[in-house]
Amino acid sequence: MQPSPKELFGQYVMPTYAPGLTLVRGAGVSVWDDAGKEYLDFMAGIAVNNVGHCHPAVVAAIAKQAGTLMHCSNLFHNELQPRLAQKISRLALGGKVFFCNSGAEANECLFKLARKWGSMDGRHEIVTMKNSFHGRTLATMTATGQTKYQKGFEPLMPGFAYAEFNNLDSVKAALTPATVAVLCEAVQGEGGIVPATPEFMTGLRALCTEKKILLFFDEVQAGIGRTGKWFGFQNYGIRPDGFSMAKALGGGFPIGAAAVTPELSDVFQPGNHASTFGGTPLACAAALATLETIEKEDLLGNAVRMGVRFMDGLKALAPKHACIQSVRGVGLMVGLVLNVPAKPVEAKLRENGLLCIATGDHVLRFVPPLVVSPAQIDQALAVLDRTL
Ligand SMILES: *Cc1c(COP(=O)(O)O)cnc(C)c1O
Repeated sequence: MQPSPKELFGQYVMPTYAPGLTLVRGAGVSVWDDAGKEYLDFMAGIAVNNVGHCHPAVVAAIAKQAGTLMHCSNLFHNELQPRLAQKISRLALGGKVFFCNSGAEANECLFKLARKWGSMDGRHEIVTMKNSFHGRTLATMTATGQTKYQKGFEPLMPGFAYAEFNNLDSVKAALTPATVAVLCEAVQGEGGIVPATPEFMTGLRALCTEKKILLFFDEVQAGIGRTGKWFGFQNYGIRPDGFSMAKALGGGFPIGAAAVTPELSDVFQPGNHASTFGGTPLACAAALATLETIEKEDLLGNAVRMGVRFMDGLKALAPKHACIQSVRGVGLMVGLVLNVPAKPVEAKLRENGLLCIATGDHVLRFVPPLVVSPAQIDQALAVLDRTL
């Protein structure tokens, strides 16, 4: 008999994850396990499958490009990379874009760009927020303001300082003459779906402008339509100096990017930064199809409408279930705060056919595909009602 995926995993894959189900197929908001059971996927590959699983437009674009030119290195032009850069530039900031493969790598690009820019006057320190998440490389793990991700991996990367999220005085206190940039999430994702307050965002922008410090946003989770705007910071009417994106950008295909303002667009010169797989024709074809699908299907509008429907539904469940403490979120980035441990609830919901992610100790995180329908929202609410 063939060993099961679980057995093979146990023997051959480093145990950085402890996966539960074996999924074999996906379509839209549904996924199926190896026993044929269907699940309503309200985690979307951790905020990756924003256009749903196997969206036909993305599948077709990948299939076509895979048979035409997959990879040719960045020593040559490819037809799709500059088109994707133009598209992203038009969605925000109007400057240039660097392509890579992941969220951590996109943040690393912002760090290096800030250091290069700051090296003119000897500044290099980057302030990030407590309870944030920025990735698992040495620098992004250091930037992540949660000690649980750093323990055992010391020494941390020099040049980072931390401030309280949504506390402008704390950011001011963290600044030194060496500070070159501030990095922040518009909605803290791994931190338990905590939206920034409008006062904090406008205050941060004013403070950074006054002190000539770069303001960067990590849009890896909140970006690509998740909050009902293309990027989370656009809910606050402010303009950062740069931002990172990844997760949903390729509709399930790996691609990351960092975008900056025109003022910062030529900080890097040839030889300063690179990524072998950054912006391959295949990745860019997937991303272009994904962004076009979000536009064509008005998924920003749907994220707003379904987000309201879902959060209203969750709030309506609160009086019936004493374990519900509060509901928070923006668009389809929704957190249900419980006064009981979230992990066992996540497991029960899975048994009942609804996938979501426990984050922190007491929060259930819901980041469904933006193509989710009113009927699917109501179905998820019914599973929650029954399970809670
Ligand atoms: C997931 C995530 C990252 C890391 O992205 P990877 O692709 O796993 O490197 C960084 N920042 C935020 C906000 C994220 O949610």
